[in-house]
This record gives sequence, C-alpha cells and structure tokens, in this order.
Amino acid sequence: MTEHMVVIGAGEAGARAAMALRENGFAGTITLIGDEHHLPYERPPLSKAVLTGAEEPAPPHILDEARLAARGVSLLHGTAAIAIDRAGHRVALAGSDAVPYDRLLIATGARARRLAVPGTGPETVHYLRSFPEALALRRRLVPGHRLIVIGGGFIGLELAAAARARGADATVIEMAPRLLGRAVPQEFAALLAARHEAEGVRLVLGATIDRIETTAEAHSVVLGSGEIITGDTIVAGIGALPETALAEAAGLAIDNGIAVDASLATDDPDIFAAGDCCSFPHPLYDGRRIRLEAWRNAQDQGNAVAKAMLGGREPYEAVPWFWSDQYDLTLQIAGLSYLATATVTRDLGDGARLDFHLADDGRLVSASALGPNGRIARDVRLAEMLIARRARPPAADLADPATKLKSLMV
Ligand code: FAD
Ligand code: NAP
Repeated sequence: MTEHMVVIGAGEAGARAAMALRENGFAGTITLIGDEHHLPYERPPLSKAVLTGAEEPAPPHILDEARLAARGVSLLHGTAAIAIDRAGHRVALAGSDAVPYDRLLIATGARARRLAVPGTGPETVHYLRSFPEALALRRRLVPGHRLIVIGGGFIGLELAAAARARGADATVIEMAPRLLGRAVPQEFAALLAARHEAEGVRLVLGATIDRIETTAEAHSVVLGSGEIITGDTIVAGIGALPETALAEAAGLAIDNGIAVDASLATDDPDIFAAGDCCSFPHPLYDGRRIRLEAWRNAQDQGNAVAKAMLGGREPYEAVPWFWSDQYDLTLQIAGLSYLATATVTRDLGDGARLDFHLADDGRLVSASALGPNGRIARDVRLAEMLIARRARPPAADLADPATKLKSLMV
C-alpha cells in the first residue's frame, strides 16, 4: 500500500507535484524536502520584476504555509536530501532523521554552470539562480554601475535589459557569433540584438574569455583577442546543468538529466523525476529524448508526475513552451524546431511577428513570436494547439493575418 510520498526539491515542479498528489486524492503523508531556506518560489521574476520593481522585493512565493497546511503537505525547508537508499526506501537528510518513502519524486532542478577561467571566484563572478542571488544583484544595479554579463542567453539578455531599466551600463559577452544560439531562430535573435543595442547595451559576440583580473577598483574580463572589458560586477549566465548527483549516486539511469520514461518514471518503478533535472522521450517529436529548462514544463510535469506516482500511465506530451521578457518585448516559442525545414512568417502588426516552422511533410512543429505580449500571446496559444494536433495547415493560410488560426483547427 502506498502511504508515504516524498518529493526532493521544493521548486516549481516539486511544489506543484506535492499539491497535485493531494488534489488527485492521495490520503497518506506527503513530505516536500527543499534545501533553500524560503518557501517554494518562482524563478522567472528573478531576472525581471525582482530586479526592476520599485519596491524592495519579497521572494515570489508559489504557495504559503496556509496552503501547505490545508493540503497536508509537510515542508522540510532548509533541509538537503543527501542520499537515496533504494533498497530501504528511505531518503537520508542533512541534519535530521531519514524519511521513508513508498514513492519518491526527484525534482532537484538545475544549477548554474560555473565559469572556469583563471581569476574566477565567489568575489569576482556572480550567478543568478536563487532569490538571494537576485537580491544581491538588484542592490548593485544602480545608475552608472557597470555590469558585464558573460553569456548571451536568457539570463544575460534579461539581466542586461534589467540593468538598463535601472540606469546601469551593460555589456554582454557571448562566445557564439549570435545571441540565443540554442533555442531561438536567428531572425528573432537578430531583432533582439538590435533592440539591446538601441537601448545602449554593448554586445560583444564571437568572443572567448582568457581570464578575469581584479583590482581594488574594478573587475576586468580579458578576451582571447586581447581586448579588456572593465566593469564593477561580472555575472556568468552560461547555461544550467541538471542536478543529478543524488540520482547518480543511487544508480539511476542518467542521460542528459535523470532519464525517465514517457510517464516520468525512472528505471526504478518507485522513483520518478520531473522538471529541469530530467530528460524524457517526447511523443510529438518521434520519441526523441529531450530535457527542458522552462517554467511551464516544470509545472505541467509536476501535475503529470503526481498522477503517475498514483499509478497513472498516460504519456507526458505537452507542447514545449517558454517565454522571455526583455524591455517591452516578449518572445514566445512553442514546440521544437529541429524537424523544421521551412518557415512561414505572419505579420501581427505593431512590429510583432509570428513564424511557423514546418517539417518536410508540412506538419507544424514549432512557432516563434516576438512583440508586445498582448499582440502575440493568443496566436502562439493557437499555434500550440495546432502543433499538439499534428496539423498540416496550408502555408498561405499561415502567412495571411486575415486567416484566423482557429479556422485551421481541423
Ligand atoms: P528548480 O526551480 O531549480 O527547483 C529545484 C529545487 O530543488 C531548488 O529549490 C533546489 O535548491 C532544490 N534542490 C536541489 N537539490 C536538492 C537536494 N539534494 N535536497 C533538497 N533540495 C534540493 N523559464 C521560462 O519558461 N520563462 C522564463 O522567463 C524563465 N525565467 C527564468 C529566470 C531565471 C533567473 C531562472 C533561474 C530560470 C528561469 N526560467 C524561466 C526557468 C524556470 O524557472 C525553470 O525551468 C524552473 O524553475 C524549473 O523548475 P524545477 O522545479 O525543475 O527546478
Ligand atoms: P542559456 O540560455 O543556455 O544561455 C547560455 C549562453 O551562454 C549560451 O548562448 C551559451 O552559448 C553561452 N556560453 C556558454 N559558455 C560560455 C562561455 N564560456 N563564455 C561565453 N558564453 C558562453 O543559459 P542561461 O542564460 O545561463 O540560463 C540559465 C538557466 O536559466 C536556463 O535553464 C534558462 O532556461 C533559465 N532562464 C530562462 C529564462 C527564460 O526562459 N526566459 C530566463 C532566464 C533564465 P552556447 O549555446 O554556444 O553554449
């Protein structure tokens, strides 16, 4: 009989799963273990409103003590899980007694990849993953402060936009010849680059970093080209690594994250994983194994994995989706574009643009949009529904703003 559910990681996926276990009728104990000292909180505002808001921010909590109590979820915060004893069905904790589990969820998220060049250290290079880190950065971003961000990905660009909003200078250094090389089409990356430059951000592309040098007055990034960029604060936003150490030590299969099946179970039938820490086969994309680092995926997988832990076997097949806010622009991408061989553009007006990415057989596999949120959100939502239905809409209809996307939903 399943009496004890334990969740390691009190972030987006873990907190949602703990609540969803109860919402789906589970009557036994639910223990949510989190090594951070706050109640579970949202990370997306950390590179946006937490940095730019007028008031000194509080952590953007996902839920409070009252909701946890109402759902009968025991939160052990400030407590790290240090080992999983699979044979004994127990999770060892730092500084307190082990907790027993019948079913276990690992939702340990991801951590910031560390920059490894001479001169890096806690005093010289900052990161942005947690609320305390965001708060520390916010305090530095004052008019005239010179921010250097290493990495032209989401952290780098959202941070640069926040710095400019607060009157600080911003330089973004990226290794690749373009921004946002991983998940964003080149045309959209170029539009965002132009906007950052218009806002006064200096973009240094195709640059390698030789070392960091620190004096009493400033920090400098010495590039492979010999150029020296000097500033007051250096932040590295060079990607995230899945937090798999516990799973690895417990002998669970790892493949670019904790490897789970279509219903988010690991190779141990009593252990599941969800969110940034896991990779899973996606039915919409030929069963290809993917790992997503996106807020909605963490939420959706939190809900889905609760059902799986209660015995459900439905495959997780939500269309991947994420957004980024920079200045008054929102970027949204639904689906995965690696199968795409053709792109059709729809002009949404007011400078907003929606690109549809089609596979060889005409199937819509992805959509990307950039513009004011109010201009793009509804159409991306409809595109997402078309992607989920594996629709093959005529290219001419997709391009024509007069054709309602809803009418293509057959
Ligand atoms: P996390 O939120 O990382 O939570 C995992 C938790 O587990 C953490 O609290 C961690 O401390 C804890 N933990 C780890 N190991 C242990 C252990 N051994 N014992 C106990 N606890 C442990 N996505 C978007 O789609 N749009 C955005 O605009 C966006 N903005 C973002 C901005 C920032 C600054 C960051 C960092 C991320 C952003 N994301 C965004 C990504 C999104 O926040 C993540 O995909 C999401 O938080 C993943 O949720 P998760 O629960 O898998 O992991
Ligand atoms: P990211 O989006 O993967 O971007 C990292 C960027 O840094 C990439 O362009 C990468 O290039 C580059 N890079 C890697 N090593 C470098 C080096 N040594 N020097 C210079 N550039 C280097 O990751 P991130 O921006 O750090 O974000 C971290 C996490 O936060 C991710 O999980 C991300 O999804 C999440 N986040 C999401 C959002 C959002 O979705 N809106 C906002 C903020 C944060 P290559 O690709 O060529 O390696």
